Amino acid sequence: MYFEQKYECMNREDLEQLKLERLQAALTRISRNVPYYRKKFDELGIDPYDFDSLEDLNKLPFTTRSDLALHAPYGLFAVPLREVVRLHGTYGLKGKSIVVGYTINDIHRWSRLSARVLMAGGVTKDDVIQVAYNYGLSTSGFGIHYGAEEMGATVVPASSGNTNRQISIIQDYNVTTLVCIPSYALYLADRLEDMGININALSLRTGLFGEETWTEETRAEIQEKLKITAADNYALSEVMGPGVAGECLERKGMHINEDHFLPEVIDPKTLQPVESGQAGELVLTTLTKEALPLIRFRTGDLTRLVYDPCPCGRTFVRMQRITGRCDDMLIIQGINVFPDQISSILASTEGKMPNYQIVLEREGRLDKATVLVEADVLIPDKVKEQQRFIENIKQRLAMELGVFFDVRLVELGSMLFEGERVVPVVDKRTF
Ligand code: ZN
Repeated sequence: MYFEQKYECMNREDLEQLKLERLQAALTRISRNVPYYRKKFDELGIDPYDFDSLEDLNKLPFTTRSDLALHAPYGLFAVPLREVVRLHGTYGLKGKSIVVGYTINDIHRWSRLSARVLMAGGVTKDDVIQVAYNYGLSTSGFGIHYGAEEMGATVVPASSGNTNRQISIIQDYNVTTLVCIPSYALYLADRLEDMGININALSLRTGLFGEETWTEETRAEIQEKLKITAADNYALSEVMGPGVAGECLERKGMHINEDHFLPEVIDPKTLQPVESGQAGELVLTTLTKEALPLIRFRTGDLTRLVYDPCPCGRTFVRMQRITGRCDDMLIIQGINVFPDQISSILASTEGKMPNYQIVLEREGRLDKATVLVEADVLIPDKVKEQQRFIENIKQRLAMELGVFFDVRLVELGSMLFEGERVVPVVDKRTF
């Protein structure tokens, strides 16, 4: 089942031509409207009006999260703010906000691309889709929501959290499709089991999961426990949100919506393209985005691209599961966190930078995040003061990062060291 067969199954030759034409149009538009890129083009001697081969893609400049954060909120927008109908947000380096804008055309295109991903994953317009993603500044909830409506399915905007309520909705609304982060799907499965609910009596039949790294074993467990078929998809707020890439029912990689996003894989050290099919960092160029177009955005995600024809009929390239990150960004409870954000919160709370260590574990199905902070001296009569300090940091981390951290004051010796240095992140989670 295809949502836009004309594009999704386009022959490669026509697709390459379409990509080139769209890239040419994007480059001239960007050069005209975004001074930052115009300056970069000048420095590199690139004439966007004279760009005539996709082979020259690697001559274009990269864009990074720190570029986005440095020019936030609107410095990289290619349209005036009055044409922007929606803003979403995420974090860049050093805890600085990244603001992502959409014109009304961007929203319509986003809805269609998200519908493609839902349909490729086995969802139909007859499905009742429970979106248990966060509906906030993050793009996940709204992205899937609009896609579900676009394809004519029925959407229940449950949003994240409140597991008992999620379970009642699954039962009371006869939900057939669950959309959430994979670890939450497993958590829900356990709760259903604990509550003695007969899974076979539920209407669930498919699930679309993303936002965190997961494995084939996790997929098998979700499918077995919830009695559904589970599909993977790839989304990132900076580029658009859900709708960038999604699995078809062959489950051999996620088809990238190549008519809108131009993918490359580079070696994150040399920044040169890797040999076809080799693993490296995924880089995406947006071809049609109006409000915030991006040239060669470095995602930080490690994957490889497979160009072999797919039996599903889609001709778009497939990206394999993300195997990790090439920067220090962490994904905790489905939310992007940079250790820098935590250090700036600690430094501004304490007045100086303490030694600290982030410890990530799995507690049951869910991520448990702890920050160990070095206590100069643990003095018994300062217990109250220290407790206030801990509460203050906990609150700030939750408010500013959207992740609940446990915070513990410890002696330096109880942290994990590598030589003389405290290891900044100890990730004990297994996926
Ligand atoms: Zn396929």
